[in-house]
Amino acid sequence: MFNFLKDKVKSAISSFTKKFEEEAEPVKIAKEEKLPEKVQEEAREILAEKKPSKKEIVKEKKEPPKKEELKEEKKGLFSKIAQTITTKKISSAQFDALFWDLEVELLESNVAFEVIEKIKEDLKKNLVDTPLKRGEVEKIIQESLKQSIEEVLDFPHFDFIKKVKEKKPFVIAFLGVNGSGKTTSIAKIAYLLKKNNLSCVLAAADTFRAASIQQLEEQGNKVGVKVIKHDYGSDPAAVGFDTVKYAKQKGIDVVLIDTAGRQHSNSNLRDEMKKIIRVVQPDLKLYIGEMIAGNDCIDQIKDFDEAINIDGVILSKADIDEKGGTAISVSYVTKKPIYFIGIGQELADIKVFDKKEIIQSLLP
Ligand code: GDP
Repeated sequence: MFNFLKDKVKSAISSFTKKFEEEAEPVKIAKEEKLPEKVQEEAREILAEKKPSKKEIVKEKKEPPKKEELKEEKKGLFSKIAQTITTKKISSAQFDALFWDLEVELLESNVAFEVIEKIKEDLKKNLVDTPLKRGEVEKIIQESLKQSIEEVLDFPHFDFIKKVKEKKPFVIAFLGVNGSGKTTSIAKIAYLLKKNNLSCVLAAADTFRAASIQQLEEQGNKVGVKVIKHDYGSDPAAVGFDTVKYAKQKGIDVVLIDTAGRQHSNSNLRDEMKKIIRVVQPDLKLYIGEMIAGNDCIDQIKDFDEAINIDGVILSKADIDEKGGTAISVSYVTKKPIYFIGIGQELADIKVFDKKEIIQSLLP
């Protein structure tokens, strides 16, 4: 899933590092004490190890140097050694120019502008006007990137099964645009619940398209769970209401409600969606977004959230998304956690979103 982004980041880091080495300016050393402590230490170590040459020994035997001369020589040597181990530093303007390549690679990989800005600012703090040793730059970039992505993905852990056990029936509404994978994700969640010995019932509340009622029934049959449906064109809020009533009567643990795929710009469907939410009062409102949609997916989440305040996201089609940037951008931009990622078309093809795994597979 992240191979594309990983390769891009890797090549951008190495080109950044190379250019840094070429373009950064050597640090001018005025006084020993101005050197970073680490560099001073290394210079002292080198000096301590430095054995006098034969010529120096002969000279020393002939005529021992005066105390001041020794001190002077030692200081000059110290600066020289320090100069070679303290390599270079770059200015803010140089950094901006250097970051350009990495920025383009990240944008092409569907990383949102806001996330790129954060990565840039963090990296800037770690690199600009800091004397850096040769060979140290690449490591600093990698560590800074890791830290930024960790912060970008920093949302509380969500235990789905524990959560749904809090209430009976626990009602979940699935929302999103057509084709994003809503029906498939409902079936996957139903299957996950079944594996955890929790019963569920599906509500065919997408009455806007006849095919979607049939599609949900097919998925319900696959998992072996009941689907409550009304006629095509009937009131979706009524379907949701009836399904919750059915679950209460039968002691069913979870209700999963399919809704019509809609664009927020369609005000009829938007009002209809608000009505379902008002009538059914779901415990969880999940947005199903396609990972391959990139920034469109983020914009849609923002729109739905504005209309009905969603709780979290399932990112579908991670298995066919080569870029990967959406996964690290969605939560940071929308402030909504990603609970699951869809990784295929089969019932078991769903995974809990794991920050550590994402970082590991993302960074070189
Ligand atoms: P809906 O219109 O939102 O209900 O979308 P569907 O559930 O019908 O899914 C649309 C298409 O995407 C179907 O062909 C699904 O098999 C496919 N799909 C859904 N989730 C995934 C996924 O995680 N990976 C892949 N590769 N395909 C998926």
